[in-house]
Amino acid sequence: MSVEEQLKAIRYDDHADKIPVIEIFKTLQGEGILIGTPSVFVRLAVCNLHCAWCDTKYTWVPKLLEKERIRWFNVGGLVKEVVKVAGNVRNVVFTGGEPLLWWDKGLKYVVALLGIRGFFIEVETNGTVMPVGVMDMPFLRFNVSFKLSNNKADRYEERIKPEVLKYFNDIGQTSSAFFERVTWKIVIKDRDDLDELLKIIDDVGIDKRLLVIMPEMTNPDGLGSYGWLVDWCVENGVRFIDRLHIRLWGNVRGR
Ligand code: SF4
Repeated sequence: MSVEEQLKAIRYDDHADKIPVIEIFKTLQGEGILIGTPSVFVRLAVCNLHCAWCDTKYTWVPKLLEKERIRWFNVGGLVKEVVKVAGNVRNVVFTGGEPLLWWDKGLKYVVALLGIRGFFIEVETNGTVMPVGVMDMPFLRFNVSFKLSNNKADRYEERIKPEVLKYFNDIGQTSSAFFERVTWKIVIKDRDDLDELLKIIDDVGIDKRLLVIMPEMTNPDGLGSYGWLVDWCVENGVRFIDRLHIRLWGNVRGR
């Protein structure tokens, strides 16, 4: 399930210079520090990781990708489509898959043009791809979710790219009290994850105030078993945020 196999499944060669959109819809942001914020979600195809608990496998498993009705947009077309779907909504979330795989293939221009039109942009990324040229985009924030070994599929060197995480950490230092440019949304499944997390935080020098812990759950009933994690967050002064959309609608697409 390499990126190359995924590109083949979506027939990228027939659509060069365009961006593959799996779905685009308006809802509430269900995760991270903007939880509850009305947002346009733009979900792009292809991912370079393979998390066992991924709930968007249709963005990267070739057999599932082949069944998707992918819409290919050039830069101008995607900006127009987002503006059309947005209505009164001002927050746009690019997600995936790994959306930054498309950064140099046009996504950075889409983000820039939406920013000029007054949108705030959030990019959800697994923290393995470095997006260059973002410092002069003050309307852009990153929700960086590097993966711990609970992803059960990718080697440490594939999941954790220290130079990329340090780059995001530098961007995070330019945050203001009103606009956190980088937050770290980390999925925790069990207590061992916390040791691994703390080591990475220490190695990269991540500011714990920008950390958001999210329990692994695709079922609203799962939250009840995470009391120990809530206690840890309180004890360590770290934010705990669950998945609002799962509580509201369950694990369904387009919400
Ligand atoms: S990085 Fe995100 S999209 Fe990719 S496999 Fe993991 S959870 Fe899924």
